[in-house]
Amino acid sequence: MLEVKNAKMMYGDLVAVDNLSFTIKPGDIFGLLGTNGAGKTTTFRMIMGLLQPTEGDVFYQGEKVGYHHVNEIGYMIEERSLLTKLTVKELMLYFGRLKDMDKDLILRRLDHWLDRFDIPHYKDKKIKELSKGNQQKIQFISAIINDPKLLVLDEPFNGLDPINMELFVEVIREFQDKGSMIVFSSHQLDKVESFCEEIVVLEKGKPVISGRLDKVKKDFKKQNIHIDGDVDSEHIKTIEGVEEVIENNNGLIVKVKDERVNQRVFDYVKTVKSIRRYEVEEASLSEIFIAKVGVSHEEV
Ligand code: ATP
Repeated sequence: MLEVKNAKMMYGDLVAVDNLSFTIKPGDIFGLLGTNGAGKTTTFRMIMGLLQPTEGDVFYQGEKVGYHHVNEIGYMIEERSLLTKLTVKELMLYFGRLKDMDKDLILRRLDHWLDRFDIPHYKDKKIKELSKGNQQKIQFISAIINDPKLLVLDEPFNGLDPINMELFVEVIREFQDKGSMIVFSSHQLDKVESFCEEIVVLEKGKPVISGRLDKVKKDFKKQNIHIDGDVDSEHIKTIEGVEEVIENNNGLIVKVKDERVNQRVFDYVKTVKSIRRYEVEEASLSEIFIAKVGVSHEEV
């Protein structure tokens, strides 16, 4: 288990993270979100024991986290930090040895993962000769080579095509099934939504949304009704509690204040002759993010 308790991190006078608490249990996939400069990397560094919080604590398996836990942690950082003149094999031996792994084990695991990511022929290639996406795969393999119990992934999906993104997701899910704790950041909120059960959103270092994603959505209350049919959008706009009506190629999206408004919209829709679709869904994480943080996650 990983426990962040009232963590605060200051760089001089700047409060980079303020009073942050959350817990990650084995098998959890946890999303750490926020705009640029919100404090995600600082939080990752505290989680891994690379930065000591100014106040509060981080506990890993009940102990204060520290450098001695490094062998159990895998970290994929956002910027490509690969030593580009090395070959894939040399790089992995370097990273593996930092985690006290013996050479045979590193090479065995490397072969396994290169096969899995469909790049076995790159083992003796220099990193700088690889495409960006393949460098990303190598970066990911370097984070999982030690079979980590805590896997920290800073923007793991950046720049990946949809097929490789699914491959990354598949592998992360396998670590989840094995009981690893996974914490990741991403600007792709649809990915976060389909992927993690629990989130924290930081804004200028402070948690502004936190908890289980289903509860976050329930508490937000607003819902979207998708309607395709011969409805009068002007009439729908006059229904009490309807906040916005958006017309698109598939019909209308009616944004309502809370679920009580659904009945009023439904009462009207029932009077219409032809309805091809009527579907209610909770607001997306992206909408919640914009409402709480005041800016779109993709914009920053
Ligand atoms: P991004 O999404 O852009 O990577 P982030 O959410 O990871 O951002 P952090 O890198 O944790 O944000 O930065 C949080 C705040 O702390 C920012 O205002 C940043 O300028 C500041 N900061 C980060 N590292 C340092 C440092 N070593 N010294 C001083 N200030 C720092």
